[in-house]
Amino acid sequence: MPLRRTLEDRMLFPLATGISVGLGAAAGLGLAAGGYAYAAMWPGSQIFGRALIAPPRPGELALTFDDSPNPVWTPRLLDILASHDVRATFFMVGSHAQAEPELVRRVVAAGHLIGNHSWSHANLALAAPSRVREELLRTSETLEQIAGVPVKFFRPPFGARRPDVLRTARRLGMVPVLWNAMTSDWKEPSTEKIVQRLTHMIDRLERQGHAANIVLHDGSHLDRGAHRGPSVAAAGQLIARYKDTHRFVTLGAWS
Ligand SMILES: [Zn+2]
Repeated sequence: MPLRRTLEDRMLFPLATGISVGLGAAAGLGLAAGGYAYAAMWPGSQIFGRALIAPPRPGELALTFDDSPNPVWTPRLLDILASHDVRATFFMVGSHAQAEPELVRRVVAAGHLIGNHSWSHANLALAAPSRVREELLRTSETLEQIAGVPVKFFRPPFGARRPDVLRTARRLGMVPVLWNAMTSDWKEPSTEKIVQRLTHMIDRLERQGHAANIVLHDGSHLDRGAHRGPSVAAAGQLIARYKDTHRFVTLGAWS
């Protein structure tokens, strides 16, 4: 589907510094609609409002899992995290959570943090403000009702945002969150390639003095039970690689 393809490209690739400088200048002058959409998808951009990415604390790693929960793969992931005594952050799609309340409770009971990833995984940069509020509010209310804990973090689907999307999240008591380490794990069959790419990013961020906010997908917004074997295995390998030298944290440690 061309739209999805474009969204994926914007999520993953436009991270070069040169682009960010150019974008900032262009944004100040007022961008054409196409440029606006581009900037709205760019994870490193703060021109659409501030969002949590990662603090200047090399050595800290936050594993975050998007499009959760998945009835097949989230339980396996929980087993891996438990075996290493590592806590992570799960950004849940509200409609998935409603279908898997026991699994949501299991995630929270294991000490992990849950966040809001919208109700339907819509592209909120293109949605009416009333729809944005509905997507966020319904998800937070559902998660809080199921799990009995407040929802304090929001990650926009596809990283797509506008100032009012982030403002709405803040008004609902949430910190907007982006990321600084992601690869196309949702379509990559090789665990080794996922690990290799993320390791490269994590090590580079560390050299630059930053913690890593790592995205993997234990679910899919298109298919609640989607195969996520490589992503889940990659999480285990990353933990094994870094656990003796780094500290794994939830986003609660950064906000
Ligand atoms: Zn997502």
